Amino acid sequence: MHARLGGTRSLKEGKIVDKLLTAMHSFVVEPMQHGRLFLAGDSAHIQPPTGAKGMNLALADVVVLARAITAHVRSGRTDLLERYSQTCLRRVWKAQRFSWWMTQMFHLHPDDNAFDRKRQLGELSYVVSSEAAATSLAENYVGLPVET
Ligand SMILES: Cc1cc2nc3c(=O)[nH]c(=O)nc-3n(C[C@H](O)[C@H](O)[C@H](O)COP(=O)(O)OP(=O)(O)OC[C@H]3O[C@@H](n4cnc5c(N)ncnc54)[C@H](O)[C@@H]3O)c2cc1C
Repeated sequence: MHARLGGTRSLKEGKIVDKLLTAMHSFVVEPMQHGRLFLAGDSAHIQPPTGAKGMNLALADVVVLARAITAHVRSGRTDLLERYSQTCLRRVWKAQRFSWWMTQMFHLHPDDNAFDRKRQLGELSYVVSSEAAATSLAENYVGLPVET
């Protein structure tokens, strides 16, 4: 933090009272609906925090669901509700891919060998030196559009 703030602001240090390693895991519930029961957010999908996608996906699910419920209540349409799961899952799997990719690029795995480590460094080098790679990372990091 001191390095990041460049010494321009005073940073008051406190005692670290607790440290925790968060277990990383991934899952997706498919489909995300059963009859009139609709799952949204973490109840339907978890991804490692590396991509910062959990809340973004939860909000996207709810936007899709709110539009579908509104269309059903206002005009009796059922098609959006019926497609809720497949609409959300398209985005969910892209976010799972991105979170997995970020995790394997940034984290060291105890079973990795010298080849894995060099490949990882090659990937990082590519991301910071290629506009195409950086654009792809930025597009996914900012968040893909919510389908209607
Ligand atoms: C440390 C940390 C950092 C994170 N950083 C990011 C980030 O940078 N970007 C990002 O996009 N996501 C991030 N996430 C993930 C994000 O917080 C979650 O994906 C998101 O909050 C999921 O929303 P949700 O509504 O599905 O679940 P929740 O936010 O967990 O909401 C569920 C709610 O249900 C309540 N509840 C549970 N059981 C019951 C019950 N029986 N009756 C009534 N209420 C109940 C809970 O109290 C809770 O309020 C982070 C998560 C953590 C833990």
